[in-house]
Amino acid sequence: MIYRFTCIVCPLGCAIEVEVENGKVKNVRGCKCSRGKEWVLQEVTSPKRVIMSVVPVEGGALPTVSVKTAEPVPKELIPELMEFLAELKLKAPVEVGETVAEWNGIKIVATRGA
Ligand code: SF4
Repeated sequence: MIYRFTCIVCPLGCAIEVEVENGKVKNVRGCKCSRGKEWVLQEVTSPKRVIMSVVPVEGGALPTVSVKTAEPVPKELIPELMEFLAELKLKAPVEVGETVAEWNGIKIVATRGA
């Protein structure tokens, strides 16, 4: 099977094809550099995403604050993380860039103050 990607690592956006046979990567075509190859191999074998969300803040000037994970999270763990974030409630003050929580060793960082 051939999977087609547009690389998102840099603005060139190379069109990359990854050939997978019996669950193993057989060939990668179209990468102009090793960073793109690393990214696409991760996409095929263990895709990860930085997750953004909004959580309530008690006692702040605004009722909610936006947050994100400090690092990419394996896609299969995203539903569990979203359940954690749905239960998360913060107390003001919250500063931009502050680590407001930690989940499975992954920091949750505020991207807006409240
Ligand atoms: S493969 Fe390399 S050059 Fe091409 S888009 Fe990805 S990072 Fe950029």
